[in-house]
Amino acid sequence: MRWETIRKDTVLRVAPNLGDYDKECAEFSWSKARARLQGLPGGQGLNIAHEAVDRHTASARAKAVALRCVARDDSVDCLTYGDLARATSRFANVLRTLGIGRGDRVVTLLGRCPELYTVVLGALKNTSVLCPLFSAFGPDPVAQRLRLSDAQVLVTTSELYRRKVAGQREALPGLRHVLIVGEGADELPGTLSLTALMTDASDAFTIPPTSPRDMALLHFTSGTTGSPKGAVHVHEAAVAHYMTALYALDLHQDDVFWCTADPGWVTGMSYGIVAPLIHGVTVVVDAGDYDACRWYRILAEQRVNVWYTAPTALRMLMRTTPRTGPYDLPRSFDLSALRFIASVGEPLNPEAVVWGRDVLGLPVHDNWWQTETGAIMIANFASCDIRPGSMGRPLPGVEAAVLRRGPDGRAEFTDGHVTVLEEPGAEGELALRPGWPSMFRGYLNDEQRTAAAFADDWYLTGDLVRRDADGWYWFVGRADDVIKSTGHLIGPFEVESALMEHPAVAEAGVIGRPDPVAGNIVKAFVALRPGFDATTATRRDLLAFARRRLGPAVAPREIAFDQHLPHTRSGKVMRRLLRARELGLPQGDISTLEDSSERTEQSA
Ligand code: AMP
Repeated sequence: MRWETIRKDTVLRVAPNLGDYDKECAEFSWSKARARLQGLPGGQGLNIAHEAVDRHTASARAKAVALRCVARDDSVDCLTYGDLARATSRFANVLRTLGIGRGDRVVTLLGRCPELYTVVLGALKNTSVLCPLFSAFGPDPVAQRLRLSDAQVLVTTSELYRRKVAGQREALPGLRHVLIVGEGADELPGTLSLTALMTDASDAFTIPPTSPRDMALLHFTSGTTGSPKGAVHVHEAAVAHYMTALYALDLHQDDVFWCTADPGWVTGMSYGIVAPLIHGVTVVVDAGDYDACRWYRILAEQRVNVWYTAPTALRMLMRTTPRTGPYDLPRSFDLSALRFIASVGEPLNPEAVVWGRDVLGLPVHDNWWQTETGAIMIANFASCDIRPGSMGRPLPGVEAAVLRRGPDGRAEFTDGHVTVLEEPGAEGELALRPGWPSMFRGYLNDEQRTAAAFADDWYLTGDLVRRDADGWYWFVGRADDVIKSTGHLIGPFEVESALMEHPAVAEAGVIGRPDPVAGNIVKAFVALRPGFDATTATRRDLLAFARRRLGPAVAPREIAFDQHLPHTRSGKVMRRLLRARELGLPQGDISTLEDSSERTEQSA
């Protein structure tokens, strides 16, 4: 089915920040954008926390609400920009007292609680590096990331600490301090109470000089193979956070903004915390879990103007509220404050774009970016028509291209160079020209994988796209084996490694199996060791084992037994072939398959 373009004039509520797309692209420069931020007093550099918090305290925004925190029981607690400035200064002083300084890593393992914001921005004030972790990770991914990040401070709750860190603390000698949010530090040896430390700290703090190139944030992401990659971001990223929220989220002063992303991932940081606070808007923070009624209630009661969410969440809402009406659920809430809806993280099916228009009264604006880009790169803008199913067009200041692919699915090199495909509709790997301020500055301690992400002055995204004749980009799929499930990027290698630690597992291959709501679910194919039987009990045991180790967000949802996993000649499990077999797709190039007799059999 071909979806009709949604005309901008049918959905515009206020004059958009980005008026004329072509003109803005022609006139845009990042140095002009940089001038929109204030910088530290006395020309002492650029610090994200100054732009997001302290800058506002010298203006009328000091009394404006920065955070509107909705607790699980629906009670609401508000913090003004002035409150946030004082709290973040207290936390910066706490760190200083603990001997934590410039470049030291402060890791959070927290849900959406008010303290998270204090810790993130306080650490940035102190010029320490903030690394958020997803609180639904199990003990293995948490410990691995604490090690890889070289964490010196962890801020978490007593429950999360007990379940995910305490048992491994001895193996983390570099972790000097664990600060507990809320109750419970007294009963946990080797931890300190954040509240007690904050009470004793001064609420005055002067941000030290900060170079725009100083490391500010560390976000872990997953590759096809090897350990998770720590993408390094610097304070200068604030320029891109500000401009992209201005253009792609159309934030206006006095807006109430709600980003539903978990703060353990890059969207929750760039757009759940940094970008909206730099804009001085009011950020809604919901401590609760997804629930259709709860979400509609928050949109209505908090008078949300701009809503940034994810395709999986929209698909879940669509299930409770089909497009064919009678729309009782959303219509029983007053959504009249809503002005702009955007979504990111996975392909947004055209049905969801149109469902938004028909049921919520506004279409959903899809946009595209990734951990490495730090900020939105491609978007549907308020001032442009929407082509449902398309990710939109590059932001002003962002140059994108489609590169020809080689047999391995990634951008092809000929004589050391890549080839840019100009013809409309050609499919290839999406590449971006380096130079935007929030571009990652490398994977931590991993020069090899950093170098592999760049070629011929392009950053290679690992995504397959096509661009139509008018410059709109359409997502095709991943060029590698990483899995997007409910919007979270999962490295198959991490899941395979955990499974391999079970005594029954000889080998494992992990793929994403398409799912109508979650995008993909994680499915593992397992070859068993001699002496273990492919029974329901073994499967149940493996599923439980993986869940305990990896956490529910990463663990496989399905396990199939297969004593003949396909291998490349170099001995690696061929996930691509497992996926093709699972989905009944053509097997593609199998010239690297290990055994030619198997190859003949498979292709017969
Ligand atoms: P992450 O680094 O975890 O934010 O994941 C980034 C990846 O999510 C991208 O490389 C894409 O594969 C996928 N992604 C993000 N936004 C979109 C989108 N609008 N459409 C399709 N895929 C997306």
